[in-house]
Amino acid sequence: MKVGFYGHVRQYHNLKEEIDAAILEVLESGKYVTGPTLARFEKELAAYWGTKHAIGCNSGTDALWLSFLALGIGPGDEVITVANTFFATAEAIWFVGAKPVFVEIEPKTCNVDVSTIEAAITDKTRAIVAVHLYGQLVDMPAVAEIAKKHDLLVIEDCAQAIDAAGPDFRSGELSDVVCTSFIIQKNLGTFGDSGAVMTNRDDLPDRIGALRNHGSLKRSHHTMGYNSRLDDLHAGILSVKLKQISEWSDRRREIAAMYTAGLKHLPWIKLPCELPGYRHVYHLYVIEVDRRDAMLGYLNDSGIDAKTHYPIAIHKQEGFPWGNPSDGDVCLPLTEVHAASVISLPMFPELTQGEIDCVIETVCAWGG
Ligand SMILES: *Cc1c(COP(=O)(O)O)cnc(C)c1O
Repeated sequence: MKVGFYGHVRQYHNLKEEIDAAILEVLESGKYVTGPTLARFEKELAAYWGTKHAIGCNSGTDALWLSFLALGIGPGDEVITVANTFFATAEAIWFVGAKPVFVEIEPKTCNVDVSTIEAAITDKTRAIVAVHLYGQLVDMPAVAEIAKKHDLLVIEDCAQAIDAAGPDFRSGELSDVVCTSFIIQKNLGTFGDSGAVMTNRDDLPDRIGALRNHGSLKRSHHTMGYNSRLDDLHAGILSVKLKQISEWSDRRREIAAMYTAGLKHLPWIKLPCELPGYRHVYHLYVIEVDRRDAMLGYLNDSGIDAKTHYPIAIHKQEGFPWGNPSDGDVCLPLTEVHAASVISLPMFPELTQGEIDCVIETVCAWGG
């Protein structure tokens, strides 16, 4: 049996009637850019997220980048984040001329080790970017406390954790802005690129709204800006899918529980850790093993499309523009061990019971 990594086409088929109708509605409306479908989706998204505002833009990367610009983060500033995230988190910091400063992860959850943040704060530090990796929220109350003490901005990179929750807090409650992505492979994805910024701050929507639209909030009037809008076509598709997100998260959690039950007796495997009271939405189900490359090859050869997120930490990337960290600048041993041992098993709501069982059996059958 072959088990794929994504269920995009299955998901489309399950919602085909509604999605096709939403697409046709936009096509027939004649309003494709900053039209009423986008405005409606932004309202729905803010209501869903529990924030005062949601502003669509054309990717998660741009959501981060435009947020940093709107918050006035720029050259000379340092922004604290982690190196075990998708490259875009650091890239967006770099785009505005600021410098990402990486801190260590907490190996159980693979999220930032909040206790390492304070030591990284300098007089140049402006912000903390909390990345909710794999679908579990960072301990935001702890991050917010540090930010308050040192007068720092807090940005949530929630590209992987839409619909996640903490025991007594939600995304958006304890930060200046939340950025998310709707690229197809995310838990809420459209057929292409797009993203959004959520915030409770009243001073940001107009700034971000202008930045995404050539600096223009009023026809023919401009400040400096860019072109980074969320198309109405994607907004219409996302409106349909947003209604399903909680159900999809529940199904991801159910599949994760099956994986965990089927694999937990294996002594050589580290399984994802769900913190008490947290709603982990399993954007990815990531295991860790010693001989990662060998096992990944075995799984792929056996027909299981497993992948790695992320095998090269950002400070080890060739494109990392701040010099080689082996220069002694960046020392992140836990992050590096993590990058060398991760494997993401197939995880999407449309997996069948046969496929789930096949993944478990194949992993269990690995000789090491
Ligand atoms: C996907 C992702 C992004 C970037 O989103 P795009 O829409 O692909 O630009 C940023 N951060 C994290 C953690 C992501 O997973």
